[in-house]
Amino acid sequence: MNYSQQNLHSSIDEWDRNLWPPFTQISTSKPPQEISNANGALLFRKDQPPLIDAISSWWVTLHGHSNPYIANAIALQAKQLEQIIFADFTHPQAIKLGKRLSQLTGLERLFFSDNGSTAVEVAIKMACQYWHNIGTPKYQIIAFEGAYHGDTFGAMAVGERNLFNAPFEKLLFPVSRVPWPSTWLNDSTVEEREQKTLKKLIDLLEKPTAAVILEPLVQGAGGMQMVRPSFLESVAKIVKESNTLLIADEVMTGFGRCGEIFASKAAKVSPDLMTLSKGLTGGFLPMGITMASEEIFKTFLGSDPKFTFWHGHSFTANPLGCAAANASLDLLENDKQSYQAFKAKHLPYIEDLMKNKKVKKARVTGTIAAFDINIKEEKGYLNTAGKLLKKYALENGVFIRPLGNIVYLLPPLCISESQLEHCYKTIKNGLESLY
Ligand SMILES: *Cc1c(COP(=O)(O)O)cnc(C)c1O
Repeated sequence: MNYSQQNLHSSIDEWDRNLWPPFTQISTSKPPQEISNANGALLFRKDQPPLIDAISSWWVTLHGHSNPYIANAIALQAKQLEQIIFADFTHPQAIKLGKRLSQLTGLERLFFSDNGSTAVEVAIKMACQYWHNIGTPKYQIIAFEGAYHGDTFGAMAVGERNLFNAPFEKLLFPVSRVPWPSTWLNDSTVEEREQKTLKKLIDLLEKPTAAVILEPLVQGAGGMQMVRPSFLESVAKIVKESNTLLIADEVMTGFGRCGEIFASKAAKVSPDLMTLSKGLTGGFLPMGITMASEEIFKTFLGSDPKFTFWHGHSFTANPLGCAAANASLDLLENDKQSYQAFKAKHLPYIEDLMKNKKVKKARVTGTIAAFDINIKEEKGYLNTAGKLLKKYALENGVFIRPLGNIVYLLPPLCISESQLEHCYKTIKNGLESLY
């Protein structure tokens, strides 16, 4: 087979005439494949062998596809109460979820929205209005290089400025940035890079700052870039001492992905605001949540309407989403091993891959494993090494979606030993045959 670049292209005629897919350049991609049903870690296609979903369908599918316990909870809820306006009314699933997440995160107040991006928008707005409400407005926001926080305007503003948001650059509010000292197994350079970042952070914090936002432990879309828990602890300490707010964007890292229920917990960090989505409903339904401390919440109280948080979405606290989230939490609580013991499953394979000259910067945090393909020309997201490996994997029954030359596995918790072994074997063989 010829894996030339030509092989990756398609004609627009092969695509659906009405649909506009996300994050896709149609002229240089193959049309999507139709999935008729999915179960556990497997995706089923018409007349073709099943695929192992090694990236949890963009990191959302937590326990597995079509998990019967969550499916049942949604079905029961749909027959009881499908939706209700969440101002003037509340409902049992929301109340239950509020109690549970407040206990699990240590943040008392839960604000609902629709996805990760809106959860981030809410967090940024809460942080800014908090300072406004207490009469000391602050506007500097500090974020990390390489960060991804979503695709709405505020979320784009705090994310890394790149090709994806270049057309909107002039419309994005200014954000101060510090480097993300990512690390990997056998990395001997991290200490120095961490110190540089901490120093820059301290310098920036001399200016009044509304919030510091980060993805705890792992930057996702930025390339599964992992930092040491001790680094996060230092950042949190510095932020706390400089009288500003810490926003932990746990949209990807939450719900066991990093080996603990939340990455903040794994790093012993207590943020003031936390954003959740993706795995929140077990990956069944779109829902976003912003958790806020009682201290922040209290500053929004008062008879003057100016203190109110004037923000809401039509589907706020959708009962189906809440029912799915509660069911997903049941599963997590009943089987902590499923995420706590996941790292040990990745490690032997990753250690084996590290012997390969085509692999560099191998790394693991909880259920997430990643490495860089060691290629000569570095062209970031647009290079083809990852695309070719993806194509090879698809032909061998594994769905991966490398970020440029960064290959990662982020499988649903239910993936079996043999399925995981097949994923790694396919990647290893793919690297051999392609480069
Ligand atoms: C995916 C992601 C978002 C955006 O979530 P959407 O639901 O896609 O809007 C925000 N932050 C992080 C860390 C993410 O991984």
